[in-house]
Amino acid sequence: MHVDDEPRATTVAQAPVDQPAEEVDAAKFDAGAEVDAGVVEVDAGVGASGVDAGGVTSEFDAGIVAVPFDAGVAIPNVDAGVVVVPFDAGVVIPNVDAGVVVAPLDAGAVIPNVDAGVVVAPFDAGAVIPNVDAGVVVVPFDAGVVISNVDAGVVAIDAGVGTAGVALSTHTVLGLPDDSSVGRLDRWLLVKPQYVSSYDTTLKTPRWVSWRLDPTWLGSATRATSFRRDTQLPTTAGQARDEDFRNSGFDRGHLCPSADRTSTDLDNDATFVFTNIVPQTHASNAGTWATLEDEARTLVAQGKTVVITAGPIFGVTPQNIGAGVPVPLSTFKVAVVFDGAPTANLTTSTRVIAVIVPNTTTVSGNWRQFRVTARSIEQATGLDFLSDVPRAVQDVVENRLDVDPP
Ligand code: MN
Repeated sequence: MHVDDEPRATTVAQAPVDQPAEEVDAAKFDAGAEVDAGVVEVDAGVGASGVDAGGVTSEFDAGIVAVPFDAGVAIPNVDAGVVVVPFDAGVVIPNVDAGVVVAPLDAGAVIPNVDAGVVVAPFDAGAVIPNVDAGVVVVPFDAGVVISNVDAGVVAIDAGVGTAGVALSTHTVLGLPDDSSVGRLDRWLLVKPQYVSSYDTTLKTPRWVSWRLDPTWLGSATRATSFRRDTQLPTTAGQARDEDFRNSGFDRGHLCPSADRTSTDLDNDATFVFTNIVPQTHASNAGTWATLEDEARTLVAQGKTVVITAGPIFGVTPQNIGAGVPVPLSTFKVAVVFDGAPTANLTTSTRVIAVIVPNTTTVSGNWRQFRVTARSIEQATGLDFLSDVPRAVQDVVENRLDVDPP
């Protein structure tokens, strides 16, 4: 991946105060044994800029930069004072806070809280980061930081903590799972005070429903008694009807549960529309799935706030009921548990509960036996949960199987 054999004249414009000049001299990384090719210079406060890296060009002003590197290269870490962190293939380096010195690691060293092959290094204004050729260094940075003169390898740029979800609704602060939008027939976005639904008007079933659960949503409202058409969709758009379920053998299964919206009668009524309903076996709806719904309210009773997305998973040729409403093979739920206010700026230690409950007449028992990774649900559905969460954090929490907290 070495593309620049000549020593580079480029030098770092703003050398950190605690670092000998040669440590951050770009030419050293090109010519020396420690770095094979290219230079990434990261200065701060210079103004907006783009990145030109092996054909990848992108503008950014905040988020995450992923910089490939070679096994064995030295990587200067990145506080205002600058720390150099040599590492070898397989070494895992922990996340560090600005101002914390990371000691050099030996090959084979393992430090918790990061994935193998990934370095997560927050840095401050004045930080300098050399380029490298293989592997990945993930470096969050602050708005105003500028990266330039990227000459080799691939630089992938993640937008970092996104804002699309939080701008849309309190229920989607972690991001939208797909590109649903108003008027799109197969993923019609329905933003309501009580929850957000993406409804497939051709299948006549929701793709997903997202909602936030905290004590403000819970009260003593009486449960609504009848299901109705969602008038937020035009009458020309396909939607399941009550008669589709009559004598079908399947329950009208809420995704956002009635019992999660009991603060007012209006809130409770809002869950009784078919844009929040899938055909569900009674065994799941009143059994295993219900134990999972109860768990979320138990967590809220313990002081947590939970951000939930649920939806159906269909087989290749689903059974239909009524005038062609498909029955899912299973239903999924992803619940992200917060101690305080939900934010897309979550940490890798944030609890994510992901479950797939079979939509069968024989399913029984507690939800815990059906835990999966959120990533596996993404692979089964094509959805991207936590899409406004930095990708490196998603990669950790979505690949971790939930276990009961101690
Ligand atoms: Mn995701």
